[in-house]
Amino acid sequence: MFETDEDLSDELNPDFNDEASYVCQSCGEEIVIPVDEHAGEVQEYVEDCPVCCRPHLLRIRFDREYGPTVDARAE
Ligand SMILES: [Zn+2]
Repeated sequence: MFETDEDLSDELNPDFNDEASYVCQSCGEEIVIPVDEHAGEVQEYVEDCPVCCRPHLLRIRFDREYGPTVDARAE
């Protein structure tokens, strides 16, 4: 069924894209985060990398055409 997290084959449809990803500035891992479009068009919050625990300032923007984009900066 839906066992693989890596195969995001429905990524082309932004209407149903409730996940976004960023690359950790510290360890280089790609981190997938859940996003909630209804929480606002632009969201900003600090989250620790689940791999190396370094805090990042995440800025999430929702675009009608392209879906969510994440800008991550190391704190
Ligand atoms: Zn990290």
